[in-house]
Amino acid sequence: MIANALIVGGGVGGMTAAIALRRAGVDVTLIDADPDWRVYGAGISVTGISLRAFDDLGILDRIRARGHVGAGMRGKTVAGQTVFEPPVPENPRPVEQSGGIMRPVLHDILSSIVRAEGVTVRLGVKVQALVQDDDGVDVGFTDGSEGRYDLVVGADGIFSQIRGMIFPDVPRPKFTGQGCWRVVAKRPPEVDRTEMYFGGPVKLGINPVSADEMYMFILEHVPDNPFFAEAEMVSHVRALLEPFGGAVPAVRESLTDAAQINYRPLEWLLLPKPWHQGRVVLIGDAAHATTPHMASGAGIAAEDGLVLADELKRHDAVADALDAFVERRFERARLVVENSVMIGDMEMAGDMSNKGPTMLGATMHQLQQPY
Ligand SMILES: Cc1cc2nc3c(=O)[nH]c(=O)nc-3n(C[C@H](O)[C@H](O)[C@H](O)COP(=O)(O)OP(=O)(O)OC[C@H]3O[C@@H](n4cnc5c(N)ncnc54)[C@H](O)[C@@H]3O)c2cc1C
Repeated sequence: MIANALIVGGGVGGMTAAIALRRAGVDVTLIDADPDWRVYGAGISVTGISLRAFDDLGILDRIRARGHVGAGMRGKTVAGQTVFEPPVPENPRPVEQSGGIMRPVLHDILSSIVRAEGVTVRLGVKVQALVQDDDGVDVGFTDGSEGRYDLVVGADGIFSQIRGMIFPDVPRPKFTGQGCWRVVAKRPPEVDRTEMYFGGPVKLGINPVSADEMYMFILEHVPDNPFFAEAEMVSHVRALLEPFGGAVPAVRESLTDAAQINYRPLEWLLLPKPWHQGRVVLIGDAAHATTPHMASGAGIAAEDGLVLADELKRHDAVADALDAFVERRFERARLVVENSVMIGDMEMAGDMSNKGPTMLGATMHQLQQPY
């Protein structure tokens, strides 16, 4: 087993890896480029695989207490009429449940455990140089300090600096053609599970994220990848919401300030195998950035952290552990990324058939298999 590790990036993937490695007895340093280690104030959907990973990490109770965990979903027409509500299993396992949580709350839960487990956290610091030999990696940091590590984990997200350092020729993430708008709003009690509105000019869904809040996501086809100035955001989103009924008009009315809105163009990347070079390995969005169509990006990032620690415990040689890690992870990540992108493509092509929802259901079922 390795003695020490550097984790670059304190998102869901990096923090899960830090906790799991620390619990395996590794001396862990985690750096994040952001001096305030912030995360933007949007909601995040937590699907069954995320909940199972959080359960395995021992934080499911906290997610339940501060987020929303339930089961099932509700399908609606554009006007807001419920058209289907599949039955939920009795006493569902975490992997059969779903929910949502505010990103800053999830960050608070994970980061407080990172610190409690004794991870050394250094903020506002980046890697300046990486030089590795057979026995370790010498790292120079942007604050002028240096360190030597048995393992470096690049968990620095979709635009990973570490990926660029070890695989400089990998193409950049690719824009899909869709953009995602997110709005947090007060939750009426009747919105007690995910609601999807079908047949509208944009894809729209609502997810509870706490006892009294919910977040709404809208996927818009924006082939030219426009820049939206803050000044136009409120009127733009209000116009997108106009045709919808149900819980949507109240959200539309509450929308007065661009600060309530988060917008992200959707980009994806699936790094071909291997995801490591020597003793430097990539996890989470740095290796496989997906669109939100399966709401599983955080789940597979958390699984990466858990599996990485597991494979390092199973193998004496780091090279064997990293090979085994990538073998165990690649097909799962491919399934999420490729099928998410395919569903987005169908939406942009105006495919109203059952193909997309069927693919979503089948993939989610497949992901319930052990990771
Ligand atoms: C619009 C949208 C909606 C989404 N919705 C969902 C959803 O509902 N459910 C879901 O499960 N997933 C969702 N995802 C995907 C999910 O957000 C990501 O897959 C997940 O956050 C990846 O976690 P990560 O730890 O790999 O990376 P990140 O969360 O991106 O964390 C990377 C960290 O690295 C730090 N960093 C960056 N560069 C450096 C550097 N050079 N040096 C040091 N630190 C650095 C950053 O500050 C950050 O803290 C969504 C994605 C998008 C784009």
